[in-house]
Amino acid sequence: MRVATFPTADKEKLFIPCTKATISRKQSFVKAQAANMSTSDGATGSKQARLVSNHNSKDLNGTTSGGDAVNARDKVALITGITGQDGSYLAEFLLKKNYEVHGIIRRASTFNTTRIEHLYADPKAHKGGRMKLHYGDMTDSSSLVKIINMVKPTEIYNLAAQSHVKVSFDLSEYTAEVDAVGTLRILDAIRTCGMEKSVKFYQASTSELYGKVVETPQNEQTPFYPRSPYACAKMYGFWIVINYREAYDMFACNGILFNHESPRRGENFVTRKITRSVAKILLNQMEYFELGNLDSKRDWGHASDYVEAMWMMLQRDAPADFVIATGETHSVREFVEAAFKHIGREITWRGKGVEEVGVERNTDIVRVRINPKYFRPTEVDLLQGDASKAKRELNWTPKVSFLELVSDMMNADIELMKKNPIA
Ligand code: NAP
Ligand code: GDP
Repeated sequence: MRVATFPTADKEKLFIPCTKATISRKQSFVKAQAANMSTSDGATGSKQARLVSNHNSKDLNGTTSGGDAVNARDKVALITGITGQDGSYLAEFLLKKNYEVHGIIRRASTFNTTRIEHLYADPKAHKGGRMKLHYGDMTDSSSLVKIINMVKPTEIYNLAAQSHVKVSFDLSEYTAEVDAVGTLRILDAIRTCGMEKSVKFYQASTSELYGKVVETPQNEQTPFYPRSPYACAKMYGFWIVINYREAYDMFACNGILFNHESPRRGENFVTRKITRSVAKILLNQMEYFELGNLDSKRDWGHASDYVEAMWMMLQRDAPADFVIATGETHSVREFVEAAFKHIGREITWRGKGVEEVGVERNTDIVRVRINPKYFRPTEVDLLQGDASKAKRELNWTPKVSFLELVSDMMNADIELMKKNPIA
């Protein structure tokens, strides 16, 4: 068993390029802080105080976090993909645990921070507080090195990805750049910064790796059979994490997460597409919507439960890979039925293949049609996870049931469409 932390002396040697005089000034400052500090786990800071240099770093808001002062920090997380569904829940979770949270965001022509705006210390002024954002990109190694060197995280959560399976058939090369080579870039950036023994690394692996499943339910031993450019890219990510763990003794883990959803799920994933559309139907903003394969089955959990599992994996003494899933599987068709039931309507199905329609009982209005443009060249028909290792070794179990997930998403989308019908 290996604890991936260094004694303070090593950290100073690695991270603090400064004079002896500054070191002793900084050490007295840290000692004074450490004596008063207590961590979110209730441990006193004196043992855990981590001496890090400041590099006059500026977050996106121009807030300077540095100068000559020194922070005693023992919980510093860096999240790639902080603006995504999982990144936003994870940032929220870690801030509650008293972490200093850094996020990498990419430049966009409009704000892409909607999901994390509520986490700014001053949301009106977009001032970060303990959440600091840095421009970077998974396709740009030098940005990753600069950010890691500046932030000196104790934990890195690599969530950034081109995460849409269907889109990966259109953007296959880009998906490989971000999801496969991007993972390699960040692992190498950790090594370039000399932090491979001090940082704990989480990789967002996926149940899509099981693809054309060879057994059900799927666990950590189930062989992979990827079925999309996305899954193939994530396969590289999965194995490069294991390779770096074995080659360089890094604390690096794969979370093999089954589908997880929430009101913050991207609008073009099937669950969110359904809850948005059913909310619009309830409010008479839409008559019907179109889907692809109604019969594929997924093990859908709630993202808020799943980010906790990510954190739990990094709190262990030794790195390992874990399946995170509910153990239940439901078809797209069942999700549609549950969403309509939430608004007190019943959907029945008529016809076959691309002619099949979902009809509202009582009114006989067609609410769901099939459009082959949503079919995938190769489909993943069935996913159902076995998370017993996570239960046994992390004490993790999902809290939100399938129907509670549907209700949470439906309630949020009804509110959203009431406020903004063109959302
Ligand atoms: P998501 O909502 O699509 O978020 C993806 C994040 O990655 C966004 O913040 C996005 O930034 C960022 N990103 C994309 N390309 C980037 C690039 N080139 N450089 C830097 N950042 C980039 O995905 P999610 O649902 O939160 O999933 C998080 C991770 O878990 C992903 O790696 C996904 O593949 C994996 N995963 C998800 C599920 C699931 O069911 N949700 C299941 C298993 C695994 P923008 O906001 O600017 O687009
Ligand atoms: P995935 O499991 O990561 O591919 O998550 P998605 O939510 O994108 O898709 C889940 C399943 O829903 C897949 O089997 C899709 O083929 C199926 N599906 C059916 N209709 C649609 C649709 O209109 N959009 C999406 N995204 N998926 C659909």
